[in-house]
Amino acid sequence: MDIKLPTLTIQPDWTAESQLVKCQEELDEIKEAIAAHDDVNAIREAFDLIQTGHTFLQIMDESYDGHLNVAKFLTEHAAKLKRKGYME
Ligand SMILES: [Mg+2]
Repeated sequence: MDIKLPTLTIQPDWTAESQLVKCQEELDEIKEAIAAHDDVNAIREAFDLIQTGHTFLQIMDESYDGHLNVAKFLTEHAAKLKRKGYME
């Protein structure tokens, strides 16, 4: 399963920290959906969570004017998972 998430227009009040707060809120919503045996809503909330994580990375990238090249960390991330045997 490959998922390409939308790149959002960063809103003026969004910060790296505010995205982390939102990640926790979305995580709590997934937990609530799972507890309610509502898998469909859990999936929707999981998309909210990973979108918020994606937006966190986007904010970090833009805060360094792209000099940090956050996308290159995806290669490193995939290599780590492969080393652990999670990509066989
Ligand atoms: Mg949500």
